[in-house]
Amino acid sequence: MTRFKDIGEFEFIDRIAAHTQRNRVLCGIGDDCAVIAAGKGRVRLVTTDAMVEGVHFVQNAPPESVGYKLLTASLSDIAAMGGKPTDAVVAVGASDGCDAGYVERIYNGLFACADQFGVAIVGGDTTRTAGPLVLSLTLTGTMARDQVSYRSGARVGDAIYVSGTLGDAAGGLGVALGAVEMQGEDRAALLRRHYRPEARVDLGRALAETDAVTAMIDVSDGLASDLNHICRQSGVSAVIRAEAIPMSAAFVKFCDASRENKLALAFTGGEDFELLFCVHRARVHKIEVLATRYSISRIGEIAAGNGGVRIENEDGKRVLLKRVGYEHFRGEKQPQITTNERG
Ligand SMILES: [Mg+2]
Repeated sequence: MTRFKDIGEFEFIDRIAAHTQRNRVLCGIGDDCAVIAAGKGRVRLVTTDAMVEGVHFVQNAPPESVGYKLLTASLSDIAAMGGKPTDAVVAVGASDGCDAGYVERIYNGLFACADQFGVAIVGGDTTRTAGPLVLSLTLTGTMARDQVSYRSGARVGDAIYVSGTLGDAAGGLGVALGAVEMQGEDRAALLRRHYRPEARVDLGRALAETDAVTAMIDVSDGLASDLNHICRQSGVSAVIRAEAIPMSAAFVKFCDASRENKLALAFTGGEDFELLFCVHRARVHKIEVLATRYSISRIGEIAAGNGGVRIENEDGKRVLLKRVGYEHFRGEKQPQITTNERG
């Protein structure tokens, strides 16, 4: 018997990926969404996310935030292709003793997010479980076929950008767990990023329309892990400037108070739902004009190689990310950053 914990999430996905490719399927497993030809130069995007009580949320989390975040995770995947979200179906598995009012409040958060982003919740399924509460959401989207941003298009010399600030959701989780005493607006800002993260749907669409983005992914597992996906699937490496990593003042205060290494947490903290994207060198000006409307930062460049992510610090020394991201089945998170003197 092969157990999930032995092979990990990504190897499992590799094993089943070969069965998902059909003619009209432009992209099956392996990107933020499946991309299906829909005729007239359009594609349909499909993505799904599941959340399990005790794994993705705890019972004392505000239930509205659980529903809000469930849809955010899928919206963020649509955003990472550059698409427009359309309709969703939701499945819920609850035990006999589960409080119906609690589940209703989860749906209220879900509906609030759906209203905000113009998504219709068009159906789903309800089932009994013997275990924890399980929620699953499938979201569709639409866009022009020639504007889709895959993970595999990054080329040597591309500029690497990220939206917003990184690490805030991880900081918010720390605050929620009582890791540090923080008050006022800083506390509220971090908790908001943890409980009610907003998908960058408008930015994703604006980027797709520029014709300048070569590859894109959303930062759901952490910058290091998600950039690694782009590098691996594009057959390139990345060099990141440590001082260019965007961090909020609240996040820096959290790291100071909790003695977290802020660079490590910004690189490996998950669920920021920002967009990470690569831009053709000659088309960077098309992206820079968007900086008046959106928060985006240029953080590095794509280099030759096969899958490595390197970080340079202020002294010009290179810092190597050894362990990246969070794989669910293995259930371990050991971000390690070690200096590599030879670069
Ligand atoms: Mg994603």
